[in-house]
Amino acid sequence: MIKIEKLSKHFGKLQALKNIDLSLMPGQCISLIGPNGSGKTTLIKSILGMVVPSSGSIYFEDKNINREWAYRSDIGYMPQKGEYPENMSIGQVLDMMIDIRKTPSHLLDNELYEKFELESMLDKRMRTLSGGTRQKVSACLAFMFNPKVLILDEPTAGLDPVATEILKEKIIQEKEKNKLILITSHVLSDLDDLVSQIIYMQDGQLRFHKSLAELKADTGTDKLSRAIAHVM
Ligand code: ADP
Repeated sequence: MIKIEKLSKHFGKLQALKNIDLSLMPGQCISLIGPNGSGKTTLIKSILGMVVPSSGSIYFEDKNINREWAYRSDIGYMPQKGEYPENMSIGQVLDMMIDIRKTPSHLLDNELYEKFELESMLDKRMRTLSGGTRQKVSACLAFMFNPKVLILDEPTAGLDPVATEILKEKIIQEKEKNKLILITSHVLSDLDDLVSQIIYMQDGQLRFHKSLAELKADTGTDKLSRAIAHVM
């Protein structure tokens, strides 16, 4: 579904991504982990078209999307800290996004909107929201337009246990609909029991991309995967 070839990104002298090759299939739920500064955000922002790669290619369903913006509407994104017009209310932000996407209301997925009970908070201005409520708005927007791919950046940070469980159930449902889900975190997170694959990044490089079964079966030649398997 998403194929990345020899992707590199330089910020001045710093090389944040070093020759990344990666192939992601529908129906996979993948955890992208690695220490802070390892290049996770730069990688997902490249996929989202928010960072222009220095070299390499990104394909979405076999189409090169390096310069093709249209396909990004098939990718739902839940940022770590959503930035919104702070004077707008939740209702106005949701309406604005629906207007921009021109999605007919019968095609919207309102499940998170309902389960997070956002209806009772529609008049609240963005600047007054707690971190958790802001995360709920971001999650609702990521899933609302029925994207084929979901990229969730530290999605449970700031969410209470009930909301985390609601989000988790939603991720499982979407995975069963054959969507591709990529979840980033700097540590192994409370969503790891639903991921099927782990990608580990370090210093701008992809250190490994393995299924959980492979990781668990690892006999110990790879110190890094042993360490991660141990944490799990
Ligand atoms: P992670 O998400 O794993 O914490 P990032 O992709 O945010 O890592 O960052 C990778 C490296 O690129 C870091 O050294 C970071 O300081 C640098 N970096 C990221 N974005 C920028 C930017 N816009 N300008 C300059 N350096 C950046």
